[in-house]
Amino acid sequence: MNDPSLCPLLQVDLDAIAANTRQLSALTTAGLLAVVKADAFGHGVTEVARTALDHGAAFLGTATLQEALAVRERGIDAPLLCWLTGPFTDFGPALRARVDVAAPTVQHLDAVAAAARATGRRARVHLHADVGMARDGAPAELWGVLCRHAARLERVGLIKTAGVMGHLGCADDPADPHTGDGLTRFRRAVAQARRAGLRPAYRHLAATAALMTSPDTHQNLVRIGAGLYGIGPGGTGVPLRPATTLTAPVTTVRDVPARTPVGYHHGHITDRPTRLALLPLGYGDGLPRAAQGRAQVLVQGRLRPVVGEFSMDQIVIDVGDAGIEPGESVTLLGPGLRGEPTLGDWAAWAHTLPHEICTALGRAARIERRHLPAQARPVHQLEIPA
Ligand SMILES: *Cc1c(COP(=O)(O)O)cnc(C)c1O
Repeated sequence: MNDPSLCPLLQVDLDAIAANTRQLSALTTAGLLAVVKADAFGHGVTEVARTALDHGAAFLGTATLQEALAVRERGIDAPLLCWLTGPFTDFGPALRARVDVAAPTVQHLDAVAAAARATGRRARVHLHADVGMARDGAPAELWGVLCRHAARLERVGLIKTAGVMGHLGCADDPADPHTGDGLTRFRRAVAQARRAGLRPAYRHLAATAALMTSPDTHQNLVRIGAGLYGIGPGGTGVPLRPATTLTAPVTTVRDVPARTPVGYHHGHITDRPTRLALLPLGYGDGLPRAAQGRAQVLVQGRLRPVVGEFSMDQIVIDVGDAGIEPGESVTLLGPGLRGEPTLGDWAAWAHTLPHEICTALGRAARIERRHLPAQARPVHQLEIPA
């Protein structure tokens, strides 16, 4: 594979997504809502949604309505919820596409009811409670009003309250008392909804971290994003599989003497005669500049440092004495099975979350994304020595 015209390649292993869906479903009796927002965390919404549904997910979820409508346009008609909309959204398209919508305010309910009147379709709503992160749910002091308004709109046939949802902000630390507080607030919110006459079929609070560490938060539906993609809290013993492998072909190679300055601001100076190889991707393709000075890549089975500042379109690696040629592929990240860096390593180097790295790589126009089908063995696993 020595074709210098090759571009960086992000391989998404759908078999890993399938296995993670099954592993995570097995942790609970609750149904699994697969979160495919942000193009399935950069992994490809269509392929991930289909794979998750094939392997046990009962529901799909997105942040925005646009994302949900895009799921429908791909011909996927599973139950689908979106939870991030403005109070004056035209919900007509949501109702026509049978998309459930979250409502955190009475204005949302009114907009949904107006769309129900306009389309002649009853809206399915999930009332969204803030249980302690002051982000996108209704604060406790407005919850009663929200529930009573929903009940009125139910009685006139415009909406059905299909769910009550909340979201936990600190569940990645199982010892954090805010998770217990959040659960208490959520139970209170559900009880209040019932007192208003609502009978939400779905009660959902937990995302990946709470699913894996706090069984009492599961309710009867869990909304799982990160875990599908192999990202989860450590120490749970649940073997999630990272799904992405990023490789890039070497563009050019040069031999340089000691004390050669490399890249912008001479961010690196070689300390010995060595060989530098250029890779055709940089921070414009989602490689975080904050990983400068720490990042490494796997070259012919050995880790080699990225040297100097990251450019927008390129990075330089010091390959030592490796006899590498233009077109040869190096591995920037993968599951780690061959010693290559993982998404977690990149996140640590850049002082960020793996989520931020994979969403950035997934939307990079100059990286080709390819899906390996579920069940088929991915390329990188064929290379593991027995
Ligand atoms: C992103 C998101 C999730 C998924 O969280 P993970 O930690 O990735 O599993 C669940 N619920 C809401 C409201 C979200 O925004």
